[in-house]
Amino acid sequence: MKKNILEEFIQLLNGSKKIVVIPHKNPDGDALGSTLSLNFFLNKIGHKSHVISPNDYPSFLNWMPGQNQIIKYTNEAKDAKELIESADIIFTLDFNDLSRIDELEDIVNRSDAFKVMIDHHENPSDYADITYSEPTMGSTCEMVYNLLSNLNEELIDKKIATCIYTGIMTDSGSFRFPSTTAKTHQVVSSLIEKGADHSEIHQKIYDSYTFDRMQLLGTALSNLKKIDHLPVVYITLSQKELNQNNFKKGDTEGFVNYGLSLEGIIFSVIMIENDQEKIIKMSFRSKGDFDVNQFAKTYFNGGGHLNAAGGVSRTSLQQTESNFLSAVAAIKTQLYD
Ligand code: 5GP
Ligand code: MN
Repeated sequence: MKKNILEEFIQLLNGSKKIVVIPHKNPDGDALGSTLSLNFFLNKIGHKSHVISPNDYPSFLNWMPGQNQIIKYTNEAKDAKELIESADIIFTLDFNDLSRIDELEDIVNRSDAFKVMIDHHENPSDYADITYSEPTMGSTCEMVYNLLSNLNEELIDKKIATCIYTGIMTDSGSFRFPSTTAKTHQVVSSLIEKGADHSEIHQKIYDSYTFDRMQLLGTALSNLKKIDHLPVVYITLSQKELNQNNFKKGDTEGFVNYGLSLEGIIFSVIMIENDQEKIIKMSFRSKGDFDVNQFAKTYFNGGGHLNAAGGVSRTSLQQTESNFLSAVAAIKTQLYD
């Protein structure tokens, strides 16, 4: 990390401050890992810090160290609001725009607290007093590691190491995405030395399917369609199909990646109907140069990274499928070698 940013952090964290640390809505392993690890560290160095999540997260993450102290805005709005309103510093982690925290956006915007962004998404918006943004990084957790190890490496204990390891592992597809570097492996090596149990973490995240979730995966895979003459596949899941398999939050996590394990496929998409929010949630994954961040931004109100992005559609599932097919037709030259 750049020396001048580090110096800004050192200055900011002088003394004892009231702090809140906020991940994006529907936090994933990287969002929770980065907020929980930073929160542990901040409390260790004498601050009063809390993690406030916009909403709940899937059960495969509800073992993470410190997670039971997370304040969820959807359940504890009053406490969350009071903590944000009285905070000296607000850390926002793993997102680049306040619209990603839903109803917390207004509360954070109104607050006079010093605001810090730590994030690895492209094109950070300009709301923070310190913007620590590194889009080449594979995860926010790796950035938090760099920060904490520069501040005081010795304070990284087993819990902190476990949280950081989890985020690096989940955002890198278990260390296989191109953003994984030799440095990432060095970081991971030191996390294991600090006590992170890589095998146990992997099992807790990936080998925790319920029977219903496995059946839902079966439905998703049997709905997989390939677009003729293009290296593109997509999956649809209707609310009815979700209900039939007793869908729980997080059950569809990772389903979109299966498309990319087909030989020759470079673009995989999943569209999931959500009756309650009246949206179709879309996830986009690619291999190589095809830019799903751009695709999500242009056609589906979303964003993310070069090879992993998300978006939403506010029309029916059928219409969304048809809009998606038109969008692919419009950019199909980008999909040829
Ligand atoms: P996922 O498909 O796993 O939900 O998200 C993949 C990536 O895209 C993540 O980095 C996530 O932050 C980003 N992302 C997901 N949904 C949205 C969205 O609706 N808007 C934006 N800007 N980014 C999103
Ligand atoms: Mn991330």
